[in-house]
Amino acid sequence: MSSAPDPSSPAARVSAMLPHELQPATTLPSVTAPEVTAPVPAQPVGMGAVLEHPHTRAEFSVPPVVQFKNVTKTYNFGESNAYTAIRDINFVVPDLPDKGEFVCILGPSGCGKSTILRLIAGLEPQHPATTGEVLVLNRPVAGPGADRGMVFQDYTSFDHRTVLDNIVFGLECLGVRRSERYARGREWVKQVGLNTATDADKYPHELSGGMRQRVAIARTLILKPRIILMDEPFGALDPVTRMNMQDLLVKLWRDVQATVFFITHSIEEAVFLGDRVYIMSNAPGTILQELEIRPADKPAKEMQREPRFQETVAYLRDQISQLEMGKD
Ligand code: ADP
Repeated sequence: MSSAPDPSSPAARVSAMLPHELQPATTLPSVTAPEVTAPVPAQPVGMGAVLEHPHTRAEFSVPPVVQFKNVTKTYNFGESNAYTAIRDINFVVPDLPDKGEFVCILGPSGCGKSTILRLIAGLEPQHPATTGEVLVLNRPVAGPGADRGMVFQDYTSFDHRTVLDNIVFGLECLGVRRSERYARGREWVKQVGLNTATDADKYPHELSGGMRQRVAIARTLILKPRIILMDEPFGALDPVTRMNMQDLLVKLWRDVQATVFFITHSIEEAVFLGDRVYIMSNAPGTILQELEIRPADKPAKEMQREPRFQETVAYLRDQISQLEMGKD
């Protein structure tokens, strides 16, 4: 590591904006191992910073939780209707001790965001990649696994099961005994802000959209996955419910310490939730930019009024608008 930078230099000013765990080693207490060995120069934008290039594996001294190495996915490969959705995707998300990263993926529709998420999940037909390697905890993904949980936009609860029975479904599949799974299930009913007395025995058709997504989140988190994959989970909710769900998600995520991959079309949502935002190109999707964002220190509604928040949102909105305009 080189000596400490001049405090007035651009690198030092950017460094001051980065989350604590991404600070260069020279600014960390001596007992803490450096997690980023060589931060790439970055341009400050409001409460974030645009990296000069997306991080590479060599820049992290901790192992990656997820890494894509030159990943390309061509649907219907070798057939007349072959279509390349993503091309040469490279990124690396570090496995931070006692804290997961919150990674948001933004990009024009059809650029391959869901394809990336489902490749991490190991779900067909996205899995396997046509070329390249998808690594989870340093191992190539071979299929779905208990280390990864997924929450979709569509309400995916079982209609014939109550809230509590939906939440404990995964534990039931794992053979956890009844009394334990219901005790844990009731805990999760509370954790996601539902009421054990009045909501636990309701069926999905008796719930609002927000409540159903609370059930979906509880059902996934009760299994304690290392990686949570969320595909537009709040896309169908009204704006107020959506902000409440964002606040809930931040709180839960801090408790469960998982790494989250989150797809959204809402730039505000990405800036509020993300530690890291990837901007993807038009199809075939590649990663164009990586931003690091300082963690939100206020509820979503208040953050959205802050000039530093709005500056980051405006920057991202410009980038996405330019991409949308450049589409065929
Ligand atoms: P995004 O999530 O960014 O909207 P997707 O990953 O869903 O994009 O899809 C990327 C492209 O791949 C789209 O053009 C879509 O039509 C295409 N695609 C997705 N799934 C399949 C599939 N199973 N077979 C063929 N093409 C697909």
